[in-house]
Amino acid sequence: MTDDRLGMHEPISRRDFLNGTLLASAGLVLGRHAPVFGPVAPADAWDGYGGVGDYARAHGDGYEVMSAGHRMRDGAFERAMAGAIDTGERYDLVCVGGGISGLAAAVFFQRQRGGRCLVLDNHAIFGGEAKRNEFTIDGQTVVAHQGSAIFLVPQPGGYTDAFYKLIGMDRSAFAYQSWRGPAPEMPLGHSPYDEPQQYGFYFGSQFGARPGVWVFDPWGRQLDGAPLPDAVKADLLRWRSVDTAGLRPTTEGDAVSRQLDAITLEAHLMARHQISRETVRTFLSPVEGGGYGLGPDVLSAYCNYAIETQFPGDGDDAQGDQMFPDGNTGFARLMVKTLIPDAFAGPRTVDAVWQNRVRFGALDRAGQATRIRLNATVIRVAHAGDPVRAPHVVITYVRGNRLFTLQARAVVMAGGSWTTKHIVGDLPDGHRAAYAQFYRSPCLMANIAVRHWRFLYRMGISGCRWFEGLGNYLSVRKQATVGGMAPSFGPDSPTVLTIKVLFALPGLPIGEQGSRGRTQLLGTSFAHYERAFREQLGDMFAPGGFDPRKDIAGLILNRWGHAYVNPQPGFFFGTGGQPAPRDVLRERPHGRIAFANTDLAGAMDHRNSIREAERAVNQLAGV
Ligand SMILES: Cc1cc2nc3c(=O)[nH]c(=O)nc-3n(C[C@H](O)[C@H](O)[C@H](O)COP(=O)(O)OP(=O)(O)OC[C@H]3O[C@@H](n4cnc5c(N)ncnc54)[C@H](O)[C@@H]3O)c2cc1C
Repeated sequence: MTDDRLGMHEPISRRDFLNGTLLASAGLVLGRHAPVFGPVAPADAWDGYGGVGDYARAHGDGYEVMSAGHRMRDGAFERAMAGAIDTGERYDLVCVGGGISGLAAAVFFQRQRGGRCLVLDNHAIFGGEAKRNEFTIDGQTVVAHQGSAIFLVPQPGGYTDAFYKLIGMDRSAFAYQSWRGPAPEMPLGHSPYDEPQQYGFYFGSQFGARPGVWVFDPWGRQLDGAPLPDAVKADLLRWRSVDTAGLRPTTEGDAVSRQLDAITLEAHLMARHQISRETVRTFLSPVEGGGYGLGPDVLSAYCNYAIETQFPGDGDDAQGDQMFPDGNTGFARLMVKTLIPDAFAGPRTVDAVWQNRVRFGALDRAGQATRIRLNATVIRVAHAGDPVRAPHVVITYVRGNRLFTLQARAVVMAGGSWTTKHIVGDLPDGHRAAYAQFYRSPCLMANIAVRHWRFLYRMGISGCRWFEGLGNYLSVRKQATVGGMAPSFGPDSPTVLTIKVLFALPGLPIGEQGSRGRTQLLGTSFAHYERAFREQLGDMFAPGGFDPRKDIAGLILNRWGHAYVNPQPGFFFGTGGQPAPRDVLRERPHGRIAFANTDLAGAMDHRNSIREAERAVNQLAGV
């Protein structure tokens, strides 16, 4: 299709602000991640549009964040470090990373001990993977999550419930928008992970036809009409029909969980459902183990059970997945309000904190107990001398082009394995070896704002799956009625279609799947992605009258270079009598430094971010 028909020249919110500034050769900055599509990428052409509001300058790992991180990894700051400016600041606790884990560490620290605390984060706003994108479409505001999306109704009186109350979460479940549209009402889910009742499968040109083939109500129709060999259909129906009550772990570390951790997820799925390797790789990679980013051939089978086993009490099935309109961003904002009451106007309520803007000037004011410093990439954390006797830790960070140092009595490293292993200068060999067994894979979260979704309603679906191109599924969701959110929603309402693009490359070794995926994610320009999304949605939704030129109102790309932890067999419970890598880091703080982040649990979940943070803060109580 031509650029014009795709709408590449429409004045939508995307790259209109490009200034074409060539910051650096992409080859130099990206290092191992040289571009695969097209030549040098100017920062703006890579970042693209960021939306409006608090998060306009922070969507995914932006070009500057990524560049500073890669320069840190490559040792580019080594020589300059000696000349870093000492800010003269002395803190009781520094949290490296301002995602849910780093913020939670600050909350626990202030509650348990109190003192001077600083949170350092490399983005233009706190939250880590829990951030929002915000668009204005024809005068209306629509939002979506950049990464971390859902939570479950916490078990009353349980761990999660207590923490939510501590940070001012004033309800355990949300009310959601009511229907505003023609009859019949189309049932909609609350979250991007719900498979809605009215669903379709799309088989594109790789399955032999362009335009492709739609199969509506694919499971109800037993895949009738799907352009698939009978053996594959039989595999998929078997996979779908096997009940979930089979052998499952009940507590983390029980015999079943250890058996599962000894094999790959692929082997487990093949055996459990009696299906072929090919079916697993082609059709199930993104949904089985999809929360882990890579192919099931390299993941531990325990991955599929970890989260439910780690938090057995949470999740009231009747109420389903819960979601702030912008995902778990809501929790990050509540924590910041708890730490720094001036950070948002109004009371500490879900409504006020969700709706009111961040007062950035209040985050890092001298004299307040907790400070949050943004746009600061930490490049070195090391004890001032022997870790056993050192009186403090020295933290060096880069902000703009300048290097700074400060001191802390204790440090929680909450940024994640992929960065912590490069930063802690005096990390013991055992810890280093443990971190070497952590893999993280990339993910692109594309938020595509549309002026309406009548095209889906006409097709009789609110969600779908596809098996080629970018991403694998999407669904329209009704939103929680927090803050000033419109109370009703229908096919004429603007909304955001979120497409998660994973880079599973089954058949390749674990490290290579991740690094090849990153090369592709980081080496692709915004314009290339924009064109590909327009073309793909144009093909898929043509039967509903979708016109990419008129119907797309904006596109934000959230590129996460190290989105998901990828536990390999043995990751959770160890192999050959050796401790699991995560336990080395969880059980052994290093002098005045302790380790947090959700990846230490081997499962990406905000509750793990919180739990690991509390454990790390407790470990530092005596230093
Ligand atoms: C696409 C996606 C979807 C998800 N969906 C869900 C979901 O639905 N529900 C759920 O519970 N969880 C979900 N998660 C898991 C998510 O990881 C956690 O919920 C949580 O947000 C992680 O918080 P964290 O603080 O542990 O890590 P992060 O959010 O990664 O925070 C770490 C922060 O530290 C910063 N940092 C790292 N190194 C440095 C440095 N050197 N200097 C300064 N700053 C640094 C990072 O840039 C980041 O801002 C999802 C994750 C992804 C990627």
